[in-house]
Amino acid sequence: MFRQLPPVPDHPAIEEEILTWWEERGIFQQLRDRNRGGPVWSFVDGPVTANKTLGVHTAWGRTLKDVFQRYKALCGFDQRYQNGFDCQGLWIEVGVERELGLNSKREIEAYGLAEFARKCREKVAWSAQELIRGSKRLGQWMDWGNDYYTFSDTNISYIWGFLKLAHERGWLYRGHRSTEWCPRCGTSISAHELVGSYEERIDPSLFVRFPLIDRPGQSLTIWTTTPWTLPANVAAAVHPDEEYGLKENGEWVAVKRYPDETYVERRRGAELVGWRYRGPFDHLPAAEGIEHRVIGWDEVTMDEGTGLVHIAPGCGTEDFELSRIHDLPIVMPVDEAGRFYDRFGWLHGISTSESAEQIVADLAERGRLVAAGEYAHRYPFCWRCNTPLIFRIADDWFISVDDVRPRLLAANATVDWTPAYFGKRMDDWLRNMGDWNISRRRYFGLPLPIYPCACGHVTVVGSRAELDELATAGMDQLVELHRPWIDAVEIRCPACGTEGVQRIPEIGDVWLDAGIVPFSTLGWQNPERVEGGYGTGAAEGLTGADLPDHNYWQTWFPAHWVSEMREQIRLWFYSQLFMSVCLVDRAPFRSVLGYEKMLDEHGRPMHGSWGNLIPAEEAFSRMGADVMRWQYCDQPPDRDLFFGYGPAHEIKRKLLTLWNSVGFLVRYSNIESFRPTLDDLAAGPAGVELRALDRWLVARTGKLVVDATAALEEQLTYRLIAAFEAFVDDLSNWYIRRSRRRFYAYDAAAFRTLWFALVTGLRVISPVMPFIADHMWRNLVADACAGAPESVFLAGWPEVDEPDERLLDEIAEVRRIVELGREARSTAGVKLRQPLRRVYVRGARLAGTHAQEIAEELRVDEVGFDQGPVAQVRLLPNLRALGPRLGPKVRDVKAALDRGEAEELGDGRVRVAGEELAADEVIRGERVEIAGWGIAHDIALSVAIDIEIDPDLALRGRVYELIHTVNTMRKDAGLELTDRIVLTLPDGEDLLRHEDWIKAETLATRIEPGEALAIAKA
Ligand SMILES: [Zn+2]
Ligand SMILES: [Zn+2]
Repeated sequence: MFRQLPPVPDHPAIEEEILTWWEERGIFQQLRDRNRGGPVWSFVDGPVTANKTLGVHTAWGRTLKDVFQRYKALCGFDQRYQNGFDCQGLWIEVGVERELGLNSKREIEAYGLAEFARKCREKVAWSAQELIRGSKRLGQWMDWGNDYYTFSDTNISYIWGFLKLAHERGWLYRGHRSTEWCPRCGTSISAHELVGSYEERIDPSLFVRFPLIDRPGQSLTIWTTTPWTLPANVAAAVHPDEEYGLKENGEWVAVKRYPDETYVERRRGAELVGWRYRGPFDHLPAAEGIEHRVIGWDEVTMDEGTGLVHIAPGCGTEDFELSRIHDLPIVMPVDEAGRFYDRFGWLHGISTSESAEQIVADLAERGRLVAAGEYAHRYPFCWRCNTPLIFRIADDWFISVDDVRPRLLAANATVDWTPAYFGKRMDDWLRNMGDWNISRRRYFGLPLPIYPCACGHVTVVGSRAELDELATAGMDQLVELHRPWIDAVEIRCPACGTEGVQRIPEIGDVWLDAGIVPFSTLGWQNPERVEGGYGTGAAEGLTGADLPDHNYWQTWFPAHWVSEMREQIRLWFYSQLFMSVCLVDRAPFRSVLGYEKMLDEHGRPMHGSWGNLIPAEEAFSRMGADVMRWQYCDQPPDRDLFFGYGPAHEIKRKLLTLWNSVGFLVRYSNIESFRPTLDDLAAGPAGVELRALDRWLVARTGKLVVDATAALEEQLTYRLIAAFEAFVDDLSNWYIRRSRRRFYAYDAAAFRTLWFALVTGLRVISPVMPFIADHMWRNLVADACAGAPESVFLAGWPEVDEPDERLLDEIAEVRRIVELGREARSTAGVKLRQPLRRVYVRGARLAGTHAQEIAEELRVDEVGFDQGPVAQVRLLPNLRALGPRLGPKVRDVKAALDRGEAEELGDGRVRVAGEELAADEVIRGERVEIAGWGIAHDIALSVAIDIEIDPDLALRGRVYELIHTVNTMRKDAGLELTDRIVLTLPDGEDLLRHEDWIKAETLATRIEPGEALAIAKA
């Protein structure tokens, strides 16, 4: 006996039950044991930032990872299941700062770095537990508890090794340059962190007068949207080749910008170069000794502003570059927190954003303001704290990329990217990226192991062990490789022997932390495996992960597969590739599955403050993990995912077809005492005579396996979903529909075929919906067949015989004819229940022997092939395409088409008026109606159904109506499927001509005349 199914599945309840059962039975462990020693398939998990609970965004990626790991496990591959957490850097710091109510770096320092580091670790430990809990609920099978944490001393030590190597090769340098800077976080932001951080913003738009010293009464007019940079002005740039003009009011501007003005004097930009002017804030101490002058610059644009550009090398990248070329002084107006230095008089202590209004007012008061307004543009914001960024000159540490660039490109060429354009984007990034800014002026992160000595020698410590050797002080208090402890460690300079050399205070870019993972977690260059050896430093006590040895690395590197969202191209995918190419000159992964963004179901970004953010917990309880996973997998990776309860509802509706099909098998199996045998799973039922329809379902099931395997091998889960949906539709709406009666009386071939098909379907969909798959497997297989694997995941991936494609095509065509026939009926307004006389089919290649099924499905008496009316549509010329090609001849073509004088040539091509038109040169308009016929067609097939209803057909239509009504009454009365009834029939004399038919279909033993239609149990 199978367990009966309720009318609808309770997904969350099923999932909780299966989770407990997996745990109790150790199913995942059994699976790993089973595959140990099998072929290797290496997956490396990209670390998730441990600063939050599981969100539906993260659950998407985790689902994809789990789907492919489960699939590969079903195929027998030995795998690693190490989950990873990103644990340090700005992400973590900003969250902890908020919780502690700290608003600046000064406040963090006052709070105490040691205590701050402990809070950051606490946050990570809490989040890791939350993420693990949520991921388990999602059904993700990982080696929980042996996770990697990027803040472990082991991980940090590996990065030190990488940095040392970069230093030895001469790539590591300290750069003095202009950089995007977050004033709240007090640190520079590097180029790859800027991606996607631009938002629309309104800034002031100022036109400011710079009076010329040697031309009294004349001034330059410049335009700016950043008032705070004006106190740092040192020059004004003109385009040497553009024309500038002096307006009557004494202002110089570019003529091209104001073509309608009257000019009293015109000069080429080159002639303006060298003119001296009075700066906008010359009276402040900071401007002392600065000579402002006009410089030439080819990049001055004539698209906006006045054609004269204000230059402040302390506040902009291009300005800074110009200062090098023209030897301009550099004025730095603001400190790390974005507040004016004291040399700026009344501006001292004011932030860049606060200063805007006051600067405008001050300029106006002093007669320097020409005009002020507002300007909307895209502006970069800090990706962690959302503060508008500014430019500052900073001394940062960089890794130069030019030497590595060609090797990075070569390595990327070996990677198989899905979607393919992600690989192209990586190429673009690799070609255009600048040097990697690796230093951040923050606290809880990778300490950069850089120790500059007064003698000029820079030591880069390559490992924790090396630090032990070089240290002269502070090792006794070194809790872990983090600030403040690491700051107290001093070393001896290997070049001059000086002791007490200190580390630079900066920490490293978090992408170094994640990029080293394919080395640090796999034991690269580690002589001997160390049990629990990965969980060092801050990670101690959080993970039991081992530090493997070099042999292990050789087995598992490079990864066969990694998968993350698109933004990781310039982040994790990039940093991994970079570090891997530097260390071993090859890509760290063979293939990548990337995917686009997640939005809400209406296509809006999800935001906590917009109320459209779905917490994962809520999704688990309201839609269930299987439905979430289906939604994630049904998504082409090159398009944004619209996630929500609406789509979830639709998925549940589709899943009901599967649920009801299983329910059907269960119900009749229990009535007829059907017992399945495990052998049938191999290739369908053997030793029993199968009917044509059974053979078709076996082939159809084989096709599902072939399609699903191809989809998963191509990493396109949405194709797996599409294949599965089509299969369930065929199974339910063709096989079961056409075989129902065989289940009412025991027909072994039908039961065994349906069981085989359903169970194989479950196996194929199990990576996507592991809960429902195992739930049904236990019912249909494990508890029903002796010797069956207890979980679908212990049964392997199904292997099938090559399906009979011709047979499949044949039935596909029959189904298509039936669909078109139904469409023809419905467009003609004839109910499906009404019998009709005949249907004519044109264009069928394979369906000729299926006339009887077609007749039954369409409820017609007669099916004819290659006869009857042909579907016709009005053809119109596509003027846009034809006009240029045919010229005036188009008129003849149109006239001939109007007269219906076109000959179809196949594939949509048409010959008309002596011209051959391509498919896209013809527009196919509405269908031409043919009186007395309902017609439908597609490219290959045309189906015409005779819609004339004579009295005989009308009567039979009424019989069908009656049978339907009575059977509905039976159901409503709660009768068993086998109960016999007595039927009371009013006014039914003519209907009684079909008495036997009615009795058979309603299980009536007797039909009595009476007042109203009624049934009674016989
Ligand atoms: Zn910030
Ligand atoms: Zn030295």
